[in-house]
Amino acid sequence: MRKPIIGVTPDFNPGTRMDMGGKEPTYFLRARYLQAIQETGGVPIVLPLVRGEGHHRLLLKQLDGLLVTGSGWDLDPNLYGERKQFPFQQMSEERAQLELGLSRLAFSLKVPTFGICGGMQSMNVALGGTLIQDIPSQIQTRLQHSPKKSATKMAHVIRIEAKSWLSRIAKKKTIPVNSSHHQSVKAIPPLFRITATTSDGVVEAFEADSHPFWLGVQWHPEFLYRKHSIQKGLFSAFIRAARRYRSQMEN
Ligand code: MN
Repeated sequence: MRKPIIGVTPDFNPGTRMDMGGKEPTYFLRARYLQAIQETGGVPIVLPLVRGEGHHRLLLKQLDGLLVTGSGWDLDPNLYGERKQFPFQQMSEERAQLELGLSRLAFSLKVPTFGICGGMQSMNVALGGTLIQDIPSQIQTRLQHSPKKSATKMAHVIRIEAKSWLSRIAKKKTIPVNSSHHQSVKAIPPLFRITATTSDGVVEAFEADSHPFWLGVQWHPEFLYRKHSIQKGLFSAFIRAARRYRSQMEN
């Protein structure tokens, strides 16, 4: 059987930024996301930013799994029914529409989906969830969710819920993770379940019991998987689910 094909959402500069291509519309993506998929048995494909449900359906049909990546920039709060309350950079509409559209479809079509950091937030908003717009302004915490140190270093501990994908992979109730986010999941859609949090109540992971593999994590396993077996295990479990999905579609 051939290796499962994993669609990976890229970041995009529509030509309005100073960096990443400047005025020339440019896709960009940290190599780590693709490397982690390759090193755990999948074939990553960087997705084109197409619009509309028909195009999203066609794309998803080619895939055995979907990796929704993180971004330095945030979703427009209008997408979850809020006004923007704090100054932050917004991700391109092109990228937001792709991530929201694909996440919605992947949820209903039960395509294995793994969301990292901002990708987890897109999965949440896609199905009707909301976000904390700025953790330092909205949550009292002593934890550092956005420390200045490298994302290869652990930043805080998370507590993992029993009977979850995460607990099966980690086989522990608490693990240290890195952290590089100023936003987080606030309200989740009815079919989601929060499966990891920090002591300040910040949501660090969710899953959906009705879905074969629907995992969002607020940290960045792509910076950790080469040295930390639990973090590698997240990618391996995702690839296994994609392989199962593929064999079901073939039968
Ligand atoms: Mn965090």
